[in-house]
Amino acid sequence: MKERYIASIDQGTTGTRFMVFNKKGEEISSAYEEHEQIYPKPGWVEHNPLEIWENTKRVIRKAIEKKDLDPKKIEGIGVTNQRETTLLWDPQTGKPLCNALVWQCTRTRDICQALIDRGLDELVKKQTGLLVNTYFSAPKIKWILDNIPTAREKVERGKAIFGNMDTWLIWKLTGGVNGGKHVTDYTNASRTMLMNLKRLEWDNEILEELNIPRELLPSLRPSSDKSIYGYTKKDGPLGAEIPICGDLGDQQAALFGQNCCQPGEAKNTYGTGCFVLLNTGAKLFISKSGLLTTVAYSLEEGKATYALEGSIAVTGAAIQWLRDNLGLIKEASETEEIAGSVPDSGGVYFVPAFSGLFAPYWDMYARGAIVGLTRFIRKEHLVRATLESICYQTRDVAEAMIADSGVELKSLKVDGGAAKNNFLMQLQADILGVPCIRPAFIETTALGATYCAGLAIGFWENLEELRKSWKIERVFEPKWDKDKREKEYKGWKKAIGCTKNWVDR
Ligand code: ADP
Repeated sequence: MKERYIASIDQGTTGTRFMVFNKKGEEISSAYEEHEQIYPKPGWVEHNPLEIWENTKRVIRKAIEKKDLDPKKIEGIGVTNQRETTLLWDPQTGKPLCNALVWQCTRTRDICQALIDRGLDELVKKQTGLLVNTYFSAPKIKWILDNIPTAREKVERGKAIFGNMDTWLIWKLTGGVNGGKHVTDYTNASRTMLMNLKRLEWDNEILEELNIPRELLPSLRPSSDKSIYGYTKKDGPLGAEIPICGDLGDQQAALFGQNCCQPGEAKNTYGTGCFVLLNTGAKLFISKSGLLTTVAYSLEEGKATYALEGSIAVTGAAIQWLRDNLGLIKEASETEEIAGSVPDSGGVYFVPAFSGLFAPYWDMYARGAIVGLTRFIRKEHLVRATLESICYQTRDVAEAMIADSGVELKSLKVDGGAAKNNFLMQLQADILGVPCIRPAFIETTALGATYCAGLAIGFWENLEELRKSWKIERVFEPKWDKDKREKEYKGWKKAIGCTKNWVDR
């Protein structure tokens, strides 16, 4: 039988990965490369888009050479990317106007504060499902237009276009200056703060309010595109014409790669921070509880499945802090054994609000605290309290999701680096009161983009086929009774209260 493959590019915050899969959804080959994190000033974060493009070409070639694959057997390519990260470049020369402004970059704080002062936050929430925040693309576009000399003039002359990393890479792969396609999908667009979430179109009212010209925006497509975004070039890194037909933001890709395609299904990715997404189906819930409303995925033009999202800033990063700043552990994985060596955290709570609190509190003025200390407390208790903080923050977001949507959470699918920690996953099930399901294949982001590409070209028939091929590695069932769960959570809420509004305004 002729072997057939499908592949994806996963352009993340830390690095870029290319993965090739077979029809069973099994990994055939992959390659990964990190890129430089550029910090020109405190709070500023940039990436060099030309370095990312070079890395993308290299990982594609490496993955193909490693297993001596015939690129012509790759039937389609999906792209997934760090969301919100913003780039403007000249489509005639391919030259970026400046480095890409990364989602974590806070240089747009004044722009955002000015929008809030003008009372635009209500409009933004209603039309885009987001909060006015430095996190999203629109303030970053505005910063480039207002601060890079001649940027606005370049836009007027058709010499500057905008894209997130998906758009940049698709443009490059489909020919770049020689007719590259300028496209994005609804999930990425839903993080720009410029897309009307209901209509799935760029929102003229917001564009006008922010003084962002429509000409620089890419065209909007579904995440799985039967009519194909474009084809790779024979003289490109694949050496063949292959359809690019899947595109979605990394957290949405993880949701899709976790097969969370029914309303009420949710996933949590445990990395530096945590990102919880709950599929709410065709229904769009504008949050009253501090969550973001976003497009989960789209398999058809003009239609979308929506999600509620809770972004938590510090989870795995708190473990890094134990390691790097306190020297309590040597490796993150040690926390599993250390936390398990004590029966509880001895009444200690650790709220790692190092840079304020994200969802559902959104308190820029909160700062971290360790409360409930007594002489009895040892390192093991602190380590355990750190793992607990990851689970309690996830519960905060889950509670907000239930309050907003009325959708009952039946289970939580888990992925990301820290999801390997069995103790953490059991604790999560206990604190949340629902089973935590860990899949056999943990690279869910790449898998989600691959699924979208495969569905577009009929490599896979439908969602049902994907659901059947998706395998569970382990289920963590909750063991705590309701009384214990609520008592412990009450303590956490009290601890959160100690951290709020800490910094003087
Ligand atoms: P990102 O994609 O955000 O870079 P990863 O998914 O690679 O993150 O996960 C890395 C994070 O997970 C780090 O913050 C690290 O502290 C944490 N981590 C990794 N392994 C473990 C483990 N076994 N137990 C607890 N935390 C872990």
